[in-house]
Amino acid sequence: MSDLTMTIGGEAAPTEASFDVINPAKGAAFAAAPDCTSEQLDAAFESASKAYRDWKLDESARRAALLAAADALMGAAGEIAPILTAEQGKPLGEANIEVFGAAIWFQYYANLEVPREVIQDDDTAFAEVVRRPLGVVAAITPWNFPLILASWKIAPALMAGNTMVLKPSPFTPLATLKVGEILRGVLPDGVLNVVTGGDSLGAKMTTHPVPRKISFTGSVETGKKVAMSAAPDLKRVTLELGGNDPAIVLDDADPADVAEKIFAQAFANNGQVCSAIKRVYVPESLHDDVVEAMVERAKAIKVGDGAEEGTELGPINNRPQYDRVSELVADALKGGATAAAGGNPLPGDGYFFEPTILTGVSDGTRIVDEEQFGPALPIISYRDVDDALERANATHFGLSGSVWGGDVDRAAEVASRLECGTSWVNTHLQLAPHQPFGGAKWSGIGVENGPWGLYGFTELKVEYRAK
Ligand code: NAD
Repeated sequence: MSDLTMTIGGEAAPTEASFDVINPAKGAAFAAAPDCTSEQLDAAFESASKAYRDWKLDESARRAALLAAADALMGAAGEIAPILTAEQGKPLGEANIEVFGAAIWFQYYANLEVPREVIQDDDTAFAEVVRRPLGVVAAITPWNFPLILASWKIAPALMAGNTMVLKPSPFTPLATLKVGEILRGVLPDGVLNVVTGGDSLGAKMTTHPVPRKISFTGSVETGKKVAMSAAPDLKRVTLELGGNDPAIVLDDADPADVAEKIFAQAFANNGQVCSAIKRVYVPESLHDDVVEAMVERAKAIKVGDGAEEGTELGPINNRPQYDRVSELVADALKGGATAAAGGNPLPGDGYFFEPTILTGVSDGTRIVDEEQFGPALPIISYRDVDDALERANATHFGLSGSVWGGDVDRAAEVASRLECGTSWVNTHLQLAPHQPFGGAKWSGIGVENGPWGLYGFTELKVEYRAK
């Protein structure tokens, strides 16, 4: 049992009801998380509203509080990371990196200077564009990176002068609850409230009358529901949704080199990254060499409990996702694909799946067309780059993508034609606090990170003085 509590108004908010939290490496419940009532959700929004009155007034106090929060998170990494590994499944080293990453986002925003934008200063007027906070933000996060993705919301929202009620995924509530506890007393009461519950709690947050902004990261399907429930009272929304990132290998690439890098950026976090490589287009001439190198890597990588030393890939986070990955792989194999590596769930109680490389598969197969979000990667051979590009773009998704080749300028030209939020050349998944991140098409609305991420938590205002 976990004794972690929700944080409302800077205090522990115990609940009568709770729900099980499963350790995906064991396939069994190891803790329980508080189940927030409607009254407690009202109290959380009320405390955020109250805290907003002072919090929005003093920018330097906000900077100091965010820096103190970063220190507190780093100081508590040793306590937070094992909780994250137990509920999420990722190796402990990666859980530690996630905690430090979250702290780095707090530091980045604490130090971000947003330049004043004077648009007119002449004989008739002085006019300036300013960014005002929106008020209370409802923030909802998924289970793949509960802490880093929360920090992408908390740090810019709070820096801009907003306050927040944050809800993590019911699959990974505990590390976020722990962060809420650690930041009690570091941030003023009510500035950051953390509540936990099922999906219905998220729905209640998006229809609640208090928040003026919903910052949501999750699936396309839920993102559309969030957009609909934000519409009646015109809440602002940022939606960071799913991806089906293509990697296009060009014929002048070094197969062994790209295979190693593409493997790393497809199987990071066991494939459970919104902007992981999810389909690879390879020219016929390089196909066999790339596949061979990837298979070698897939067979060598150590899959296991993230809490155990030496584990490189943990389990899939939850049963529905494990079933989904199993189903998509089985569907591809039934349709004539070959599992060059893996292809099956691993025996045992945990949600482990063999790192899987699929060949003989193409567009029109579910695992190519849909977001698999797990350790299975289709390799698709192509003859003509323009055709590969067209297939890469022929999707509702548009999060990111990459092009790989020896001639960097040529690769960059191809990458410039990818229809997505970020295109990379000879790398993938390079994200940083200063770099805006968001999706084209159904992969999202708005961006996170950099000053643009902060602007998403503000309303633009013109302040005009006649002279
Ligand atoms: P999900 O949409 O099922 O859930 C995300 C969050 O929304 C959870 O906290 C959940 O409880 C909540 N929720 C569920 N129904 C809701 C509703 N009706 N109203 C409001 N909230 C609701 O997604 P998931 O399975 O947790 O996460 C995986 C998805 O997230 C993948 O598609 C992945 O690509 C995407 N993702 C995107 C990004 C990005 O930055 N673009 C980052 C990470 C993950």
